[in-house]
Amino acid sequence: MTKRAFNFNAGPAALPLGVLQQAQQEFVDFAGAGMSIMEMSHRSAIYEQVNNDAQALLRELFGIPNNYKVLFLQGGASTQFAMIPMNLLKPDQTASFVMTGSWADKAIKEAKLFGQTSIVASSEADKFNRIPDLSGIELPSNAAYLHVTSNETIEGTQYAAYPETGDVTLIADMSSDILSRPVDVSKFGLIYAGAQKNLGPSGVTIVIVREDLVAQSPKSIPTMLRYDTHISNNSLYNTPPSFSVYLVGLMLKWLKERGGVSATEQYNRDKTKLIYDTIDQSGGFYRGFADPASRSLMNITFRIQTEELESLFVKESEKQGFIGLKGHRSVGGLRASTYNAVPLESCKALAEFMQDFQKRNG
Ligand SMILES: *Cc1c(COP(=O)(O)O)cnc(C)c1O
Repeated sequence: MTKRAFNFNAGPAALPLGVLQQAQQEFVDFAGAGMSIMEMSHRSAIYEQVNNDAQALLRELFGIPNNYKVLFLQGGASTQFAMIPMNLLKPDQTASFVMTGSWADKAIKEAKLFGQTSIVASSEADKFNRIPDLSGIELPSNAAYLHVTSNETIEGTQYAAYPETGDVTLIADMSSDILSRPVDVSKFGLIYAGAQKNLGPSGVTIVIVREDLVAQSPKSIPTMLRYDTHISNNSLYNTPPSFSVYLVGLMLKWLKERGGVSATEQYNRDKTKLIYDTIDQSGGFYRGFADPASRSLMNITFRIQTEELESLFVKESEKQGFIGLKGHRSVGGLRASTYNAVPLESCKALAEFMQDFQKRNG
């Protein structure tokens, strides 16, 4: 049996063993071609099939309507922070944001390079421990779009429901929760996500965009940073990250075999319940960072009374095969990332470790 760590890394993160094993099996000789997928032309029929299959599976699993395009790009979600305003923010318009933490902040900073921005709601006063109440938000009359960070990976908060924006385009960074639960894609103008948390390895960024939005981007945008370039070339304008796209395809197949996105959501809920229940039933030994109504199904952030105990927790957990439980350096504490591919068994083992650690140190 292959020895596998209890991997709670925040990203790149756990991949299913079955996916890795299939990739291993096909590694040297892909589809009988006598070469690996990395050695093959991206213009070959074999790669075109890989590219198209991954797109089709994503469409099917996520319920993407026909008037949307699916793109496989490079540069990470971080490049989308700039590409979105470059393509979608006109000079007389404002890019609006909900300020929920570290990743929203980066998206705003980048948009500022290209035009006017506004923050329509923020949870900064609460140290970003929740998604702000958006029921009565007012958007500027010249809003080009409203940008939300669906799951704040570092703080461990997630939208329970997305805001209603009327005629204003809604854009979401779903880097850390794509395909973790069903989403009505038709509510969004654009959804983007780096693959390396929920959907595969690093190196490829998924963009789902409504076609009419990007039909007329300003002529001054560099070719590689235009959505229409990648749309008209089926994500094959230049050399794509072929191995990453192939692995995303395998991951999507795996998600489909396990019952698709609704089944995945239930599985994710079962996983995180084990850990949140352990926190809530610890009598204050563990303290969840996020407000319960904004708790993330993907990143569970929590603290123990002292930093000494937190360090001890990390040290002892590593000895027992747990990886990635130290919180992000910007917020401290502890974090367990429980993305789609993290097995229930890992979460069960973590809950048991947490209970045992409390018994010994509480
Ligand atoms: C990880 C992450 C990013 C950055 O992704 P890169 O692919 O490293 O650029 C952006 N937004 C969120 C919510 C993330 O979790």
